[in-house]
Amino acid sequence: MQNVTLNNGVKMPVLGFGVYQIPDHAQCRRAVADALEVGYRLIDTAAAYFNEEAVGAAIRESGIPREELFLTTKLWIQDQGYEQARRAFQASLDRLGTDYLDLYLIHQPFGDYYGSWRAMEELYEAGKIRAIGVCNFYPDRLADLCLNVRVTPAVNQVETHPFFQQRKARATMEEFGVQIESWGPLAEGAVFQNEMLKAMAERYGRTAAQLVLRWNIQRNVVVIPKSVRRERMEENFSVFDFTISDADMEAIAALDLGRSRIIDHFSADTAKWLNGHRIHD
Ligand code: NDP
Repeated sequence: MQNVTLNNGVKMPVLGFGVYQIPDHAQCRRAVADALEVGYRLIDTAAAYFNEEAVGAAIRESGIPREELFLTTKLWIQDQGYEQARRAFQASLDRLGTDYLDLYLIHQPFGDYYGSWRAMEELYEAGKIRAIGVCNFYPDRLADLCLNVRVTPAVNQVETHPFFQQRKARATMEEFGVQIESWGPLAEGAVFQNEMLKAMAERYGRTAAQLVLRWNIQRNVVVIPKSVRRERMEENFSVFDFTISDADMEAIAALDLGRSRIIDHFSADTAKWLNGHRIHD
């Protein structure tokens, strides 16, 4: 597996497996077991996905040594703040059945994330987390965070695919040494509707999924596609034996709309909706 090296020297696989929208325990356990068999070693979950226990069970049953895995989970808004973040971190470890995380991310840029970050810095320095980072931090919030903390985030996980390429956000990440990780690398299915991507994929003897995953990997973007189907997990994993030409990389670059069609992080309605989403009592 190809790795990227984070700003603290930790190596992270460039391709992993996401488990958003698989809340059913048995289905998630099966999916993670399949993904591990296929060869995925990075698993991306979150407290808000309600499947950390299933992920932990599948990992234990796989028999793969913990140090061969790269396990990511995320802190939800309801648990922002110094004390709450410490508690939520331990609860995630307990559900996952592990005593450390490879990557712990602030899930959304809302609530008292500075308090959370202080707790995460301490847990990182105590060796309980190998790298700490954020999700959905657009340039203003990311720059502000980087300028006001001791430990610079290692990763920013943001929606990234051909229709939303994050050029501006990426420039800020590069300035501060933050690795970009793509959520929704298949645009949650929208890439399959695009005729140009389908035709280009055919020229390479590949599928549209393989083409767009490869495109992000060639741009040094970490990708974590989700699927509950084993044949798709295999398809999404087979992206290291071909190269997209410079001309085709540019043709894909031209598809950028510069905005999300999935969620608008700049709208007050999104901030209200996400702040109101509770994941425990
Ligand atoms: P993806 O872009 O990975 O798309 C997933 C969808 O594509 C599913 O409907 C899946 O269906 C389908 N699919 C997967 N592979 C193929 C294929 N080869 N051919 C056809 N269809 C395919 O969306 P996600 O939102 O799941 O993003 C990936 C991961 O990113 C998440 O699982 C999660 O870990 C993370 N994430 C993080 C967010 C954040 O705020 N930090 C927000 C959203 C996601 P099926 O399962 O039926 O195969």
